[in-house]
Amino acid sequence: MSRPSADTTDTAAAAQGSPAVAAVALRLHDLHAEVDGREILRGVSLEVPAGRVHALMGPNGSGKSTLANVLLGNPAYTVTAGSVELLGEDITALSPDERAARGLFLGFQHPEEIAGVSVFNFLRQAMSTRKGIENFSVLEVRLAIMQWTAKLGMDHRFMERYLNEGFSGGERKRNELLQMALLEPEFAVLDETDSGLDIDALKAVAEGIATIRAERPQLGILLITHYHRILDHLAPDAVHVLVDGRVAESGGPELARAVETHGFDAFRARVA
Ligand code: ADP
Ligand code: MG
Repeated sequence: MSRPSADTTDTAAAAQGSPAVAAVALRLHDLHAEVDGREILRGVSLEVPAGRVHALMGPNGSGKSTLANVLLGNPAYTVTAGSVELLGEDITALSPDERAARGLFLGFQHPEEIAGVSVFNFLRQAMSTRKGIENFSVLEVRLAIMQWTAKLGMDHRFMERYLNEGFSGGERKRNELLQMALLEPEFAVLDETDSGLDIDALKAVAEGIATIRAERPQLGILLITHYHRILDHLAPDAVHVLVDGRVAESGGPELARAVETHGFDAFRARVA
């Protein structure tokens, strides 16, 4: 039988932007969260379908990174109300490990340096967690890294270096993309993957994301940014504007233009 399964059909339709079928990959319902006893997220609701890229824009301090941390289950942040669903499953109470194993990925705004841990060992550990395999074969991990460094235009000797130690801004962000490619997530939250990059590095990162999407058409992405620049290279399917811990407005790609033209102040009044 050569007929594609229903699953393949749905995925292809989602990737082509068909409105007919697209399962919700990430659903946030009235999410409230605090850190150090201060409420930062004050009722965030949004949905990202499988296969789509949604941009989350907002001024500094609006709670974008807080949201990213809450989504990944960072214990420093407390969810006081609302829920997070990944592919229909409520993951609000799960640990970061459990979320990672289900295919949730976070690309950090400020990736940590970890002296003494090579990129290779880190990736091997992360892949083992994601796939639920105790000790991923060294050879298999090495081959996968070689393939993806080539696709992302990176030098494969990168994997011998200590994680983020002495990495340039561009290398750090590309290393986050390498992780994303190898972990084969269902959903990726990319926190300011574009910040601090020059034009060429920005283009390389946008192309890297496109390359990964081409191989994983069902992958949903929440692209957090406070600039319009990366959206010129990576057209989002929808845009949400976060101000003071609330979504002030959601809309199509034209909303990013409105932000560029009018700034975020125009949106503040709506959440006040
Ligand atoms: P954005 O990423 O949009 O710039 P953040 O989520 O980083 O915003 O910050 C929102 C607010 O939450 C800020 O006032 C910030 O100081 C506070 N905040 C975020 N993380 C922490 C933390 N770990 N400890 C204390 N305050 C925090
Ligand atoms: Mg931030």
